[in-house]
Formats: sequence, C-alpha cells, structure tokens
Amino acid sequence: MWPPLLTLQRRWSIFLRVKNEREFRQLEVSEVYCPTCRAAKPVRRHLLLVLPTGNKYEYRCAACGTPLGGKDDGDASEYNAVLNRTSRLIGGR
Ligand SMILES: [Zn+2]
Repeated sequence: MWPPLLTLQRRWSIFLRVKNEREFRQLEVSEVYCPTCRAAKPVRRHLLLVLPTGNKYEYRCAACGTPLGGKDDGDASEYNAVLNRTSRLIGGR
C-alpha cells in the first residue's frame, strides 16, 4: 500500500461529503420520506406562524398531508411587513 495515495483518497471523500452537505442545506426540501405513504414524496410548505424571529413553516406530504417536519427561516421581514400594515390600518381609523 502507498500511504500518500490513501491519504489523498480520504481527503477527497471528506471533501465530497462536505460539498454534498453544503448543497443539501441550500436546497429547499423537495422530497421527504413519508411513513404513511412509505415512499419519498414531494412536500408542501405551509406557513404556520409569522414571528419577530422569523417565519415558521411546516412541511407536509403532498399526497396524504402527514406533517413531515418544520423549519424556521429566521427572516423577520414578513413580520415587519405585517406590523407596518397593521399600524397603518390603526392609524387610518
Ligand atoms: Zn404521505
């Protein structure tokens, strides 16, 4: 065995893993395994709550509606927009 080659292969596999994880994080969840359908199914994103800390989403199976996970996007712009609309309504009365 030639140790330098082994090291290179290991480095390459680590690099690939890191690269895939980074790409996975950037992707929106498109298909998730659904225990009810027993298959990977496309998911629908439902907006649950608009919070000062960001919007809370829930992912549900597009086929049967089983909740498959949640996500907090940490984006407060929607909350601020709602706040602005609300204060304008109150002010216009
Ligand atoms: Zn399902």
